[in-house]
Amino acid sequence: MLDFKKVSSSQIPKAPYDPATPFQLFEAKSLLTASRQINNAGAINWRFNCRLNIERMGIVLHHVELYVSNLDRSQVFWSWLLGRLGYVHYQEWAHGFSFKFADSYIVFVQVDERYQADAYHRKHVGLNHLAFHAPSRQAVDLLAIELSQRGVPILYGSPSEDGESYKVFFEDPDRIKVEYVTG
Ligand SMILES: [Zn+2]
Repeated sequence: MLDFKKVSSSQIPKAPYDPATPFQLFEAKSLLTASRQINNAGAINWRFNCRLNIERMGIVLHHVELYVSNLDRSQVFWSWLLGRLGYVHYQEWAHGFSFKFADSYIVFVQVDERYQADAYHRKHVGLNHLAFHAPSRQAVDLLAIELSQRGVPILYGSPSEDGESYKVFFEDPDRIKVEYVTG
């Protein structure tokens, strides 16, 4: 296997990258590490390499785990939303459940009673929001309609433009902000 500590920037393909070209220089983990090292030297674009990893190696966030104040309530909301976004039900146990998309899954766990009083606040340290890819502006508008039909609070009034992206923000039952965004 390639020793990625000795990788030079010339060994990593530069953008524009041809997605049809087989890419066998690194194993995914090595690429990530090598990219970070080289990026530190200013030789290569970190975001490009992250995208490269996802496209070439199927590497995405492994999982996210969220604690919720009321598991039943969260399950109703997130089962609908994640199913709607193409996730599939993955795990289920007395105190939690998860949904999976490709190699990445999101876990929801009932918070322990001892910590129940410490309410989540997205403006405090920690998670502010979760964002999901939307395939089109129409998809954003459609989801916004479905959200309002379900009585889900939509933030900032309605979907909105932000540069080249189009997005809608809304809240989960614990007021975790969720974003559905194009681009
Ligand atoms: Zn965002």
